Amino acid sequence: MSQLHTSRWKSSLAQGLLSFSLLGLAALGSAPACAQTKPDFSEIEAIHTLSDSDNTAALKQLQEYKEKLGKDADYVVRAEVLKTLIGILYDAGKIKEADAANAELMQLAKSRNDNDMIGLALIGEAFQLMDQGKFAMALVKLNDIQQSLRDTKNAEVLMRMNIAFGMVQLAIGNFDKSLSYFLEALKLTDQIPRRRVQAKLYRMESIARLYLNMHNAEKALETTNEALAMQPKAESPKIISSLQMTRGLALIDLGRHDEAFEAYKTVLQIATDAGMPAVAATALGNISDYYLHVRKFTEAERAARFSLEKALAVKDPFSIAIAKANIGFSLAGQKKFSQGIEYINEAKKFFMETGSKSDVENLLSEIGNMFEAADMYKEALATVREQQKLSDELFRSDRARAVATLQEQFNAQQRQKQIELLARENQLKDAEIKNRQLQQVILMLAGVLMVMIGAVIFFLYQRVRKTNEKLREANEQLEFHAVRDPLTGLYNRRSFVDMMKSRVILPDGERREDALENPDCLILMDIDHFKNINDNYGHAAGDAVLVEVARRLRGSVRDSDMVLRWGGEEFLIYSPRTNPAQLKNLVDRILRSIGEESMTVDGAEVPVTLTAGFISLPFSGLPEAICNWEKALQIADMALYLGKVNGRNRAYGVSKLLTAYEEALPVLDHDLSAAIKAGMVELAEVHGPVRQAEAHPPATPAMPHAELASGIK
Ligand code: GH3
Ligand code: MG
Ligand code: MG
Repeated sequence: MSQLHTSRWKSSLAQGLLSFSLLGLAALGSAPACAQTKPDFSEIEAIHTLSDSDNTAALKQLQEYKEKLGKDADYVVRAEVLKTLIGILYDAGKIKEADAANAELMQLAKSRNDNDMIGLALIGEAFQLMDQGKFAMALVKLNDIQQSLRDTKNAEVLMRMNIAFGMVQLAIGNFDKSLSYFLEALKLTDQIPRRRVQAKLYRMESIARLYLNMHNAEKALETTNEALAMQPKAESPKIISSLQMTRGLALIDLGRHDEAFEAYKTVLQIATDAGMPAVAATALGNISDYYLHVRKFTEAERAARFSLEKALAVKDPFSIAIAKANIGFSLAGQKKFSQGIEYINEAKKFFMETGSKSDVENLLSEIGNMFEAADMYKEALATVREQQKLSDELFRSDRARAVATLQEQFNAQQRQKQIELLARENQLKDAEIKNRQLQQVILMLAGVLMVMIGAVIFFLYQRVRKTNEKLREANEQLEFHAVRDPLTGLYNRRSFVDMMKSRVILPDGERREDALENPDCLILMDIDHFKNINDNYGHAAGDAVLVEVARRLRGSVRDSDMVLRWGGEEFLIYSPRTNPAQLKNLVDRILRSIGEESMTVDGAEVPVTLTAGFISLPFSGLPEAICNWEKALQIADMALYLGKVNGRNRAYGVSKLLTAYEEALPVLDHDLSAAIKAGMVELAEVHGPVRQAEAHPPATPAMPHAELASGIK
C-alpha cells in the first residue's frame, strides 16, 4: 500500500505559517521610523532564537514580555512582538490564538497607517483562508494585497507575499507558478536584514515540497540535503524538523523507506523536545504512513492513534483527518474493514469539504488500493469510479469552476476598473483634444482674421498711398501751374502778386527798419523785337528763346532773387535788399547775359537783346502807403518803354524823386517823360552790350537821346 500524500501540503502550509515568525526580526530594517529612540529588539531576538529550539519556552517568555510591555510601548516593538508571537503560536498549534494575534497586529498597523504592516496582517489572513481550504478566496485576497503593496520595497513583505502566492498555487495544482513564486521568495531572502540563513532554509524546504508534488523526489531530496548541509544540526531544530520531514517524504517516494523512517523519527524527537505538537502530530502521521508501506499495520495503527491524540490537542483538523485515514487503513490492513471504512469515510468527508484536489484523489486512490489488496474488487471498482466521478464533477465542475469563477470575477473586476479608468481617461483626453482643436480653430481664425485685416489695411494703405501720391502729384502740378510758368519754369505773375500781398507791412506803412538802406529792387524786362524772332525762326524757336532767356536770367541773379515771367516775352526780377549803388551793376549783368552771346536755336544763331526798366522799393524813401509796389512797377514799366523808344538793348531806372512827392507823383503816375523833363526825377541808364552786326534794325527813337540825358545821372 502506497503512502498518503495528504500530509505533504498540510505540512508545507504549516511551514508557511511557521515561517511567518521569521518576518518579525527580518522586517526590522524597514520598520517605520516613528520611534523617537532606537527601539530595543534584543529580548525579542533572544526569544526568537529560543523558539528555534524550544517553542514552548519561547511562547511563554514572549507572552510574558508582551504583558510587561503593555499598550503604551513603542509601536515598532509591539508590532515586532506580535509578528514573532503569531509564528510561535502557529508552531505551537494554537491556531485560534495565532489568528487573534494577527488581528491585533492588523489593528495596530491600521492605527499607524503602516501599509507594509497592514499588508503583512492581510497575508496572515490569506494564510487563514488557506488553512480553511479556501484557496480561491485566498488567491483573490492575495491579488488585492499585491495591488495594495505595489509600491513597497520591503523585502520581507514581498518575500512573505511570494510565499503565500506559492502556497495557494501549489494547493490548486499550479506547480510551475508555485515554483516561480518560491524561487522569487528565495531570492528575496538575500535582501532581508537578519535571519537570512533560516529564511533561506525555509524557502528551500518549500521548494523541496513542491518538487515532491511535482513527483520529482530526486530533486526534493537533493534540495533538502543541500539545505541540511547549510545548517548545523543543533541551531534550529524547527527548521531541521521541517527539512527532515520533507526529506522523509522524498525518501518514501524513492522507495527508501527505512531512511525515511529514520528521518521521521528525527522529526518526532525534535518536535517533542522543542514543544511543537503540530509537527509531532504530522511526524507521527508520516511514521504511520511508513508502517503502512512496510505493511506493519499494528505499528501503523499505534502511530496513527498517537498522531490523532496530538492533532486533537492542537485542534489541527488536517492532522486529525490524516490520522483518521491512517487509522482506517491500518484497521483495514488488519482486516477490520467495517471499522476502518468508518475512519476512512470521516477523513474522506473532511477532504471532500476542505481538501485539495490532489488530497482527495490520493485518498481515493489509497482506498482503492486498500480494497484491491483485500481482494474486495467490487469496492475497489466503486472507489475508482468515485474517484473518477469526483475528479470530473467535484473539481472540474465545482471547485475548479469556483476557482475559475472567482478568478474570472477578480479579473472582471480588474478589467471593469481598468475600463472605467480608461473611459475616464479617454473622456479627459477627448475634452482635451476638443479643447485643443477649438483653440486651434480660434487661433487659425484669429490668424486668418489678422491676415485679412492686414490685407485690407495694406490694400487701404496702398490705395491711400496711391491716392495721396496722385493728390500730391496733382497738388504739385496745381501748385506748379499756379505759381510757375509751364514753358520756362519761372514763377508767374500771379505768384508774384501773391507774394507781394503776403509781405509783412508794418503799421506805419513800412516793412522793416533797414528797408531804406537796402530796398528791394524791381527790374522789368521785355525782349526786343520778339515778334521778328517768331516770324523769322518760327514760334517753336521763339519758345526756345524764351526758355533760354529764362535760364540766363536765373544764372545772372542771386539765389534769393526772384525771376518771373511777367507775361508773353516780358520778365521781372524781384531782387530783395539790394544796395541801390549795386543796382546798375546788376542790370548791366542782366543785359549782357542776354545780349552778349547770341542764342543757338535749331542750329541758327539768334541774337537776342532786352530792354529793361528798374526801380527800388520803397521808391525814393517814400512809404509804401504813398508809393506801393504796383505804382513802383508802373514807373518801371514807363522806364522800360523809354528804353524801347530810345533804341532798345538798354535799361532805365528811376532812382529817386527830385521834388516833393505830392508834386512829382501825379505827373510820374502817367508820364515819365514829362516828369523827367520837369526835373522831378533822377534817371539811371545802363547800356546793353554792343554787337558788331545788329541783327535787327533799331526802331526810330521816340525821344532824342540828348533830351533824355538831362534826366540821367
Ligand atoms: P518790341 O521790340 O517793340 O517789343 O517788339 P516786339 O515784336 O517784341 O513786340 P510785340 O509786343 O509787338 O510782340 C510780342 C510778340 O511776342 C507777340 C506775340 O506773338 C509774341 N509772343 C508772346 N508770347 C509768346 C510765346 O509764348 N511764344 C512765342 N513764340 N511768341 C510769343
Ligand atoms: Mg512785349
Ligand atoms: Mg518785345
